Amino acid sequence: MFRSTLKVLQQSSLRVKFFGSIHNPLGSVVRAVLPDPSSVYMLRRWSLVRTPGLAVNMATSSSHSAVRRVAIFGGTHGNELSGVLLVKHWLKHGEEIARRSMEVRPFITNPKAVEKCVRYIDTDLNRVFDNQSLSGDQKGKVPYEIEQARKINSLFGPKGSKNGYDVILDLHNTTAHMGATLILENSRDDFTIQMCKYIQTSMAPESCAVLLIEHPGVKYATTRSIAKHPIGIEVGPQPQGVVRADILRTMKNVVNYALDFMQYFNEGNTRNLII
Ligand SMILES: [Zn+2]
Repeated sequence: MFRSTLKVLQQSSLRVKFFGSIHNPLGSVVRAVLPDPSSVYMLRRWSLVRTPGLAVNMATSSSHSAVRRVAIFGGTHGNELSGVLLVKHWLKHGEEIARRSMEVRPFITNPKAVEKCVRYIDTDLNRVFDNQSLSGDQKGKVPYEIEQARKINSLFGPKGSKNGYDVILDLHNTTAHMGATLILENSRDDFTIQMCKYIQTSMAPESCAVLLIEHPGVKYATTRSIAKHPIGIEVGPQPQGVVRADILRTMKNVVNYALDFMQYFNEGNTRNLII
């Protein structure tokens, strides 16, 4: 595990050299394929690594276009209530997440599971955004979450197309005592890596780990995977079916820092991106 972590750090450092505007390597992106206790411990250690002087100027880079459409998903697992509560709140108070350069759309992804306060009805919504499930050629009665996945794919995708949403922030809770954790699915997604770094630094001294899951053996078809830049936000510890005020506040802060980053990015506002 430790060796693979170093490998990713080195890869990140190497890749950064291709961006003339980024002055320091990304010191805290880590690789872990399974959320076992040792990897959580490792994440906590690496989340303390700080990279002072990081400057980002990707908005002026021709390789990244502006962020125009952002979705915030809550209730992908219906008993993880921080995201459910926040998304329901933002559906009534959209001004709290509004940013002038982009559309920000809060959305409850699994309303039936939310209503019953269960993880899912028929099958895990966070595992069915594969091509086979989305294509509609499944025979017989279709599980509720697959129906829902197709609806979400038509609203925010289609997955893999240029019409898909730019960014999806998918809100989850865990019973594990891991604080705020940002989950990436692609170590070559420089935009999302930079956003994670901005969030992490803005959250300090509160810890905010970054977890990269891209091992082909464990990568799965997540709800957020229909976006060009998917990011999972996992905050714990919180029991299922319960809301803790401190966990709610942490999740709200992470979302707002993510939106701030995208706004600054769209503006080409490097002053506010210098950390
Ligand atoms: Zn979850």
